[in-house]
Amino acid sequence: MSDKRGIAVNCTVCKRRKKPIGRSAPLAMANGLCDDDCEGYRAEPRPGQLWPNELESEFGFCVGDDATEPFTGLDAARRSEGAGDE
Ligand SMILES: [Zn+2]
Repeated sequence: MSDKRGIAVNCTVCKRRKKPIGRSAPLAMANGLCDDDCEGYRAEPRPGQLWPNELESEFGFCVGDDATEPFTGLDAARRSEGAGDE
């Protein structure tokens, strides 16, 4: 079964990171995130429902394709090997 992982999207209007749709941000982060109060929030690139690096399977609900990437588990394994040669 394929999974999706959230990716960060930044607003082209205010340059802040967009808050995932329908999710409440921790108070400490809320002021630094773009939300529905900004005219750019619903514009491209569209926000999704996952936090960056959050998996659809962790979220527990089906999400759309906005602000996600296919997740295979491969790069997570790579990261845990501590690959840092670049
Ligand atoms: Zn914005």
